This record gives sequence, structure tokens and C-alpha cells, in this order.
Amino acid sequence: MLTNAPKGTKDVLPGQAYKWHYIEQAFAELCKKYGYEEIRTPVFEHTELFQRGVGDTTDIVQKEMYTFTDYGNRSITLKPEGTSPAVRAFAEHKLYAGVQPNKFYYSIPCFRYEKPQAGRLREFHQFGVETFGTADMMADAECISHAYDFLQAMGITDIELRINSVGCPNCRKKHREALREFLKPKYDALCDTCKDRYERNPMRILDCKSPICQELSAGAPMMLDYLCDDCRDAFEQLKSNLDAMGIEYVVDPGIVRGLDYYTKTAFEFVTTKIGAQGTVCGGGRYDGLVEEIGGPSTPGVGYGLGKERLLLTMEKCGVEIPETEGVDAFIAVMGDEAKAAGLKLMRQLRQEGLAVQMDIMGRNIKNQFKYANRIHAKKTIVIGEDELAKNSVAIKDMATSEQESVPMEEIAKALIK
Ligand code: ATP
Ligand code: MG
Repeated sequence: MLTNAPKGTKDVLPGQAYKWHYIEQAFAELCKKYGYEEIRTPVFEHTELFQRGVGDTTDIVQKEMYTFTDYGNRSITLKPEGTSPAVRAFAEHKLYAGVQPNKFYYSIPCFRYEKPQAGRLREFHQFGVETFGTADMMADAECISHAYDFLQAMGITDIELRINSVGCPNCRKKHREALREFLKPKYDALCDTCKDRYERNPMRILDCKSPICQELSAGAPMMLDYLCDDCRDAFEQLKSNLDAMGIEYVVDPGIVRGLDYYTKTAFEFVTTKIGAQGTVCGGGRYDGLVEEIGGPSTPGVGYGLGKERLLLTMEKCGVEIPETEGVDAFIAVMGDEAKAAGLKLMRQLRQEGLAVQMDIMGRNIKNQFKYANRIHAKKTIVIGEDELAKNSVAIKDMATSEQESVPMEEIAKALIK
């Protein structure tokens, strides 16, 4: 028990971490190009931030949250998603009073009590971006293009962008009635969760993962046919913005999104490479959310992208992530005097920006060389009595086995070249 991590969590071991650094760095760099600035919010928030009133019908809020009472009797929840915390920070720090729009990105852990399977964990990790303060479909197109560029830069070839509009509270009302009418004769066959959704928010039934509910909802009235003029115009605008950017998409009227606060734009990037959990990225517009959380009425749009699913897809696409975290040089020493010289040199070289290691296990010289091989050091610097006498070292290239003698003060130069 003590040596087992909780179900649905995953360690990232040292030999794997470079993959995470790779995607995280690439994401941050792309955000810079797009003008999204990083925002960091706490891992836990007040439960009410996610559980706003009884209206929320999502699985996440109803049965997946990690919620506990702290010693001060407050209800606390580990964040299941990134948008609400970003909105909370936006409202709390009155960022709406500054220059608009506000464009954020984040890289966070999320916690959801789900049934663990490939690409579905209880602690997983997300990248996200959010734009606050504009209802213009330029913002939606920019955010979609950001996800698109990122997925392309990560070498993902087999992925499809699907877009839809989920309308606004006004036009959704009519659609909801039509949907209830359509599902009424099938009600008894729906799963228990969907029976509940039937009253609260029947649109969510279209997103049910159960094959039976999926079959029952085939041919159901689609939101796209019920859009009001404003929502229809926005959707047309979005499509022409994407066309202008040369971004291919498929209109998929079945895209609903898991959270209730979405309005108008909804989109997903889906791959067939990783099986059932094929949605790598999902997002959309949430014009009502800031106000719902207690800020001034402010439109917003954003997306979340699962890091674990991204890495799985990259693996399936055969993407080779470059291992950049190697050791530039290993310093092998013979004798106490050499050891002292090695310690001094190691510190100098590290200050010069090189990745340098020495033996700290008391190995003899032969085993020091073996160890240098094991950790894939590019070069081995040898210091012994001879070298000390000449104030120089021998540098061995581990790939070619070539060896050269280098004066002490020129080592950094020799390593960098
Ligand atoms: P799904 O339909 O697969 O359950 P979702 O709609 O619940 O996804 P979002 O809330 O939109 O997902 O989260 C954005 C992204 O985070 C998803 O596209 C996915 O890549 C990732 N994600 C969501 N839940 C999990 C999970 N339990 N484990 C790993 N990744 C996840
Ligand atoms: Mg989900």
C-alpha cells in the first residue's frame, strides 16, 4: 500500500521528464507569439467556485470532484478544470479595469474522480488559454489557431478540428424543448444519468458516452438548426475567420462540451490514434461565466488540452522527442588532489552553463569510466597526477574515443566547441 500511488495517478520518472519539458517549453513559446500571458492559480479553490448553484448538470461537478473540509470548516475542492479559477482571479484582481482583452495561458494539474483507463486519469495535466473581454469571433479563431499550430508543431498528423455552436441561453431554450419532445418516447431506455439530464439539461444527453444513449439520440434535433440570428451570424463569422487563416475544420453538430457554461463556439480536436479517449483538446466560448462567478458581464473564450493525451498521440504518431537533458561532461579523478581539482573545475564549468557530473559513490577510476558511459556523458575529463603536474586535463570524446590534452583554463572552450 505504502509503495503504491493512488489509483488514477501517474509518476513521471526522471527518464521521461524530458518529454514533458519539451511540450511545456514549446507551449510557452507559442503562447508568447500569440500574446497569451501565464497565469498561475492555486491547486485548490472554494468548492462554490465550481459548484455554482444547483443548475450545473455536468458529471464533473456532480460526481467527480475531490472535495474535502479543511480544519477551518471550509469546503475546498482540488481544481477539476482551469477556466473557473482563471475567471475568479480575473474578477478578484479587477483585471477587467485594465487594457482589454486579457489573454492568459496556464499549465496545471486537474483532479477528477473518473474511471481510470488509457488517456483518462484522476490526476491529469492540462494546458489552457483564455481570452477575456471580447465577443468578436476573431478571438475564437485565434484561440483555435493556437491549438492547431501547437498540435502541428508537436508533430501530430492525424487530427481533426470539429466545430459547432451551442447557442445562447435564449435560443437554447427552444432547442431544449424540441429535444425533450424527441426523447420523450425513449425516456425509459436512457441511462440513469441521462434520465436526470432529461429534466436539467437534455443537451448533455447528446454527449453521453453510453452506446445505448448514443443510439437513442441519433437523429435528435440539433442546436445548429435553432440558432438565433446573433448566434448564427457569429458562427458564420467564425467559419470565415478560420477560412481566412487556412485552418481546415468539420462542422459537427454533435459537439456539446462537458461544461454547462459554454455559449456559441464549441470545438474539439479529435484523433483516432489513441482509441476511445480521442479528444485531445476541447474548448469554446463562455460569455456568461464571468458574471456568474461575480465579476462584471465579460465575454470569454478558451480551451483545455490534455498533456497525457497529447503525449500518447505523439507516441502513436511516431514523434521522436529530442532528449536534450544529457550530460556534457563527466570528470574522472585519481587521487585526493585530483578530486579537489575536479570539484573546483566542476563548479566552474557548471557556472559556465555546462551540465557536468563527478562520481560521488567512491568508485575507482575504471568504474568511473563505466559510470560515465551509463549516464551517456558526451565527454570525460580525466584528472590524475600527470595532468595536475602539467596543469592540464585529458578530454575523451565518448562517441569517438578520441582523446586530447587541454590546458586547465581552456576546458570550457574545448567543451563548448
Ligand atoms: P472527455 O470527453 O474525454 O471526458 P472532457 O470534455 O471532460 O473530455 P475537458 O473538460 O474539455 O474534457 O478537458 C480538456 C482536455 O483535458 C480534454 O480534451 C482531454 O485531453 C483532457 N482530459 C479531460 N479529462 C481527462 C482525464 N480524466 N484524464 C486525462 N485527460 C483528460
Ligand atoms: Mg470528461
